Amino acid sequence: MALIVQKYGGTSVATTDRIKAVADRVARYHRNGDQVVVVVSAMSGVTDKLIGMARSMTDMPAEREMDMLLATGEQTTIALTAMALHSLNIPAASLTGAQAGITTDGVHSKAKIKNITPAQAHSLLDQGNVVIVAGFQGRTSEGQITTLGRGGSDLTAIAMAAALKADLCQIYTDVDGVYSADPRIVATARKMESISYDEMLELASSGAKVMQSRSVEFAKKFGVVFEVRSSLNDNPGTTVKESSPDMENVVVRGVSLDKNQAKVTLLNVPDHPGVAASIFQPLSAAAVNVDMIVQNVSHEDGLPVTDLSFTVEKTDLTKAQKVLNDLQQSIGFAEMTTDESICKLSVVGVGMKSHSGVAARLFEVLSTEKVNILMISTSEIKISVVIECSKGEAALKSTHAAFVG
Ligand code: ASP
Ligand code: MG
Repeated sequence: MALIVQKYGGTSVATTDRIKAVADRVARYHRNGDQVVVVVSAMSGVTDKLIGMARSMTDMPAEREMDMLLATGEQTTIALTAMALHSLNIPAASLTGAQAGITTDGVHSKAKIKNITPAQAHSLLDQGNVVIVAGFQGRTSEGQITTLGRGGSDLTAIAMAAALKADLCQIYTDVDGVYSADPRIVATARKMESISYDEMLELASSGAKVMQSRSVEFAKKFGVVFEVRSSLNDNPGTTVKESSPDMENVVVRGVSLDKNQAKVTLLNVPDHPGVAASIFQPLSAAAVNVDMIVQNVSHEDGLPVTDLSFTVEKTDLTKAQKVLNDLQQSIGFAEMTTDESICKLSVVGVGMKSHSGVAARLFEVLSTEKVNILMISTSEIKISVVIECSKGEAALKSTHAAFVG
């Protein structure tokens, strides 16, 4: 008998029929003698719909009320899932985040979990129930309802698995696992049997979004091994865990393409200490997420000046432009240009720590494809290049072919 946490995302519970299919799967595990804790998302599209309704009331919905509203999405799913299990004669009880003992800080809409006291879940399990927990929500120690940020049900599942010391944590979604590249673009992409937390995080930040990044960070911190698999079939998924020697023998394990980036260039920025801070501090204060940064060699234009380029998420571009326009005088740059027709190609693999020549090989592939590189950045296990987006998919395919096969 094992204690299993299973998380079902929005597409897995999109309709009442899909919820019945989830109940069938859960029932199989329960009949097998396992204790099952099910964490569910809101039915797909529901959270967005609720956000739209809020916006039709006011441009600036109060965050407390927003969390009150959004938490209802997951509550709908837990009750329906419990009912579906009852109709199969499986004892089941639903719990809100608060009832599941998930205590968070008070930062509405992106609260952090402080601790979990799953006493109710334990006693319900001991009485033979399937326990169904609303994902994405918690409560403050003062009793306010909070939510954990978009995609937060993943975090609920990982955190519950850690708190309950579960034997197994399964994240059910609409893909079979984590692939070496987006299979919709690269026909030869392979499903990976296992992947390290770090690779999973780097791939997510490179645009391959399978799970909320915070939940993967949490799993890494608490050593929660989990499996990403499909709720549509019984295929084995991808296990996410610490890196192992067999993973490190392979240099590049995944490639990804992020089409959601835009490039900002500031021309003739005065080159003196403090100037980078004067640019990036206000951007960070405005919650603009800056990814790659490239500063050119200084040249003289009376006083030393330089050009500086960086990338931001496309959705943050207008905000970034506004912040910098307002500060043009005080920072003292001559001109700002932006480019939305770029994308970021990344190759990722823990094996890069011990293998050399990956960058050279990547540049060679891109050169053969006549792809111009606009920016480059590297980490211990990743190399990213910014390229023209019109060539992005072709470049992704040849990079995958060169490194993964
Ligand atoms: N329902 C929330 C969202 O759409 C949380 C989740 O699905 O994980 O972001
Ligand atoms: Mg989701």
